[in-house]
Amino acid sequence: MNRNAVIQGFALGFMTGLMVTVFDGFYMAMPDLYIPPGYPVVLTCFNVVLWTALGGLSGVMVWLFMRRPGSSKNELFYWALFFLTSFICIYGLLGKLYLPHMENMDFILKVHKKTFDYHLSFVWAGLLVLFLLFRFRKVSQESRFSVLMFLPELIAIIALFQFCSNPECLKVITLVKKFKTGGSIILESILYILGTATIFILYALFFLKARPILKKQPLVYKPLIPLIALLILVIFYMGGLYAAVSKRPQLSPHPAPASTGVETPSEQKPGSVILIVLDTLRASGLNALKNTGFLNNLESFARASLSFETCVAPAYFTFPSHASLFTGVYPPEHGCELISGYYLADGFVTLAEQFRAHGYRTAAVVSNYGWLNNSFNMLQGFELTSSLRNIGVNHTLPFHPALNVFSYLTNIYNKVTIAYRIAEDINAQARVAIDQLAGQPFFLFLNYMDAHTPYRAPSPYDGYFLQQQNPQLYRLNQYYLQSRGKNSKDSWDKYLLSQYYGEIAYLDMELGNLMQRLKEMNLYDSSLIVITADHGELFGEHGYYSHYCPMFDGIEKIPLLIKFPKSVKTGSVKEIINLTDVYPTILSICGLPVPKNISGIAFGDEKTSGFAGVTDNMIVHEGTYKYMDPIIDDGPPLLFDLKNDPEEMNNLYKQLPEINVKMKKALDKWRENHKLRYPAKQLLIPDDAKEKLKSLGYVK
Ligand SMILES: [Zn+2]
Repeated sequence: MNRNAVIQGFALGFMTGLMVTVFDGFYMAMPDLYIPPGYPVVLTCFNVVLWTALGGLSGVMVWLFMRRPGSSKNELFYWALFFLTSFICIYGLLGKLYLPHMENMDFILKVHKKTFDYHLSFVWAGLLVLFLLFRFRKVSQESRFSVLMFLPELIAIIALFQFCSNPECLKVITLVKKFKTGGSIILESILYILGTATIFILYALFFLKARPILKKQPLVYKPLIPLIALLILVIFYMGGLYAAVSKRPQLSPHPAPASTGVETPSEQKPGSVILIVLDTLRASGLNALKNTGFLNNLESFARASLSFETCVAPAYFTFPSHASLFTGVYPPEHGCELISGYYLADGFVTLAEQFRAHGYRTAAVVSNYGWLNNSFNMLQGFELTSSLRNIGVNHTLPFHPALNVFSYLTNIYNKVTIAYRIAEDINAQARVAIDQLAGQPFFLFLNYMDAHTPYRAPSPYDGYFLQQQNPQLYRLNQYYLQSRGKNSKDSWDKYLLSQYYGEIAYLDMELGNLMQRLKEMNLYDSSLIVITADHGELFGEHGYYSHYCPMFDGIEKIPLLIKFPKSVKTGSVKEIINLTDVYPTILSICGLPVPKNISGIAFGDEKTSGFAGVTDNMIVHEGTYKYMDPIIDDGPPLLFDLKNDPEEMNNLYKQLPEINVKMKKALDKWRENHKLRYPAKQLLIPDDAKEKLKSLGYVK
């Protein structure tokens, strides 16, 4: 009997792997979630391998202890001691780990507050095993071990941990709006006690009813057959779940019809238009990688395009910037700001609505699901949309599958640890959209979020700019030092920047794939393709990180490449352009009428204004001077002479009071002329929209 202990251990671990997979599989059922195609298979294999290994090790321990002279001959006791105890420790701990995937730890802790408990579930699971150990001590010797006998315990332990610490479980419980706890401690405590007690009662019922039956079955002594049956059940379960989930309309038809009454297509056959926003990509990020061999695709695209040396972001974050890109008016005019909580008013005729009204088909595939969604009315005019959270959204929550922890530590299969869809998956969806749209002119909008936090380029891109023997270990060490406050600012900033560059190199590779696909479909030459960004990013410059900060150069300057159909215009443009100007520029290149009532100016018409920003964070350029009014920061006004001080280090607002006053006046006047276009339509941001923003690290 004992010689079989190791085999029994493998069998027990195998069964545990299947059970953990069943519970982890629930993640796939979360709404609006993108599941990468191989996910169910990878998840199952990973859990089976991990827990089978633990089972095998426990088997060795059981075998060793049973061999000891004078040891108790009760095998069940040793299995409970070695396997169940270590399972609780590992499974429980994996669920409590905070993965430092962002520099923004405050936000993660805020999310974690929503779970029922962090530590008590260990006590509950521990009590259950103690009860078993006590009971098995007393069981007569002839009681023989069968792996299936631990099935009720395993289910109870996993359910306890999931219920107590997985915020998604809380969501399921409070799914019905009526029962929303609204953060009431008393209500949540009642739910907590009720839920935990229910698991114990169900377990007791199983224990009393199921174990004697399991014991009596002669079959259970040959564990292979029931385990294979279990495997088949789990395969059906995962397959069914995936099939149900993957049927979710990933390119969903948009309910709103085009809202313009513009005349339909002209005689000429226009080519298609592809507008690509590389979220959070600053212009200097591309410049830094020039001629390194990591930017070959974008460099060759730039050679076929008109490239703008100075393109200014309309604002410092996604929502207002994209709104300006879509409407051709500045942020104070559309009002899509963080402080106001507005959504994009229906009255605007968006770029997509323009194209749709002129006979183009329209589609949007976006990675930044937090802002670019229907809650903010940002997808108006798009016939087909895909704005989904990635499976990695649960990575920020406690009780993520162990696969996420593994993927995080090793950076293998890292797409499951990121809240947004990575470029590879956006490309896959873009291909579906292009296949659906091709045949008639289309306007396709793509948003890639890879350059956004967390900077986690897939291997080997994460190591290209590190100059370290083992980038993974170096990464962990950096996060460890940072979390303990022992990292030097210099090495942390350099580390972050190296990962950002890795993301850019990865984006370049994926954009190359997309362009290749367009070439294969004979769409590349004939299409107008625009590559730009919505805002930049800071890496410790002026003491700031990410992009919720004053509009310093790193935030303000974004790339803009316009590849005309047949590349009729190429070269480099020195004049300043604002992303807001892209709306009329695209329309005029396509020969479509440009509305008179927008603020953006089509490239080539006249000089664009040097203004940008949202109410709390504005800038203005005048000659070589840049004036900033970062109310966002409660700081003093900032005035820089960019000719002598391109790094923006020397604030001249006290030395040059006249220029300071003049530029402030200019800004005030500009504000006067750029007021809200539509009555402030306060939108109480719905909870699901808030959730989405939180998962991306937007703390508001
Ligand atoms: Zn953005």
